[in-house]
Amino acid sequence: ITGEPEEPLQRVDGDNYAPDNPKSARRNATLLSLVRNSELEDMLMSMRDLERTFNSKFNYPWLFLNDKPFTQDFMDAIRKETKAEVRFEQVPKEHWEVPPWINNDLYLESVQLLLSQNVQYMSKVSYHQMCRWNSGFFYKHPALLNTRYYWRVEPHVHFFCDIDYDVFAWMEDHNKTYGFTVNIYDSPESVQGLWPETQKFMAEHKEWLAPNNAIKWLQDNEVRPDNHRVANGYSTCHFWSNFEIGDMDFWRGPAYEAYFNHLDRAGGFFYERWGDAPVHSIGLGLFEDASKIHWFRDIGYQHIPFFNCPNSPKCKGCQPGRFTDGEQWLHREDCRPNWFKYVGQG
Ligand code: GDP
Ligand code: MN
Repeated sequence: ITGEPEEPLQRVDGDNYAPDNPKSARRNATLLSLVRNSELEDMLMSMRDLERTFNSKFNYPWLFLNDKPFTQDFMDAIRKETKAEVRFEQVPKEHWEVPPWINNDLYLESVQLLLSQNVQYMSKVSYHQMCRWNSGFFYKHPALLNTRYYWRVEPHVHFFCDIDYDVFAWMEDHNKTYGFTVNIYDSPESVQGLWPETQKFMAEHKEWLAPNNAIKWLQDNEVRPDNHRVANGYSTCHFWSNFEIGDMDFWRGPAYEAYFNHLDRAGGFFYERWGDAPVHSIGLGLFEDASKIHWFRDIGYQHIPFFNCPNSPKCKGCQPGRFTDGEQWLHREDCRPNWFKYVGQG
């Protein structure tokens, strides 16, 4: 940057993580939020928790994305919450708009059918667009093209535990692709065609199945007593993607890219309500070595109605071991036992 001699990066704490230090020990990573202007207060709430527990120590940049322009009020308020670099960008129109091969009459018919099966958000087109974008487009945003790792942060979530190490450095140094906190079942009505479509894809692309994959976790239908919830062969188990710490090189790789394109053409992001969580999870479970997927047991987290709450003195404000504070049936939604059964603790 200046004419001074280059010093080697130092991976210790102190000034190395100062926000404007061009030689900082920070890895090539960003905190990332897709958010609407109307969610400002909820975004501030998430940000305060993450800044307090983690980012005030490491100063990773924040990138905020939106399909609409951010308002000045939104940007001003956000900037006040961090000393790290903050960027605001709009999602390119061609990444967000409903693709031309989607038939609107067929979409409206599907809405009628799946609403009668209580598929949440089925009639909200923007929700479908958001799921599709999170599945196959976020990592193609021009502002992210030189960035490798991301931590997805949604509005209205909580972080409870002090994180005293650089999680991105940890991911890179341990050769991890993806980190999750919560692992649950999905509403099978929302993904009926997802596994059949996945099987079609796999029939033509066996070469991309990872030798040490997590397909048993994806296909399991034994552990759960009420296995009527299985969706045409898919367990519906998925990493809850409102929290993700990931390596975008995986999404950018040929296997996931071809898989996403196949799903996108099949239309299920609109005719059904395929979420980015099951799509990411199936992609990882099939194409990635399962040992590269990590449960961040130490990151206390809540997105209503589920928690990841470790029993640790570093955590404040959540009840150790609590999985949900919602209705009784939600206690059966935890799919972590299956993950550990088939894949281990990672
Ligand atoms: P839920 O967690 O599945 O109930 O869905 P959310 O409403 O939390 O949406 C998931 C994420 O996408 C959040 O970060 C939202 O802020 C964001 N999001 C959803 N729909 C839109 C949209 O139409 N525009 C923008 N900019 N963000 C959206
Ligand atoms: Mn949410």
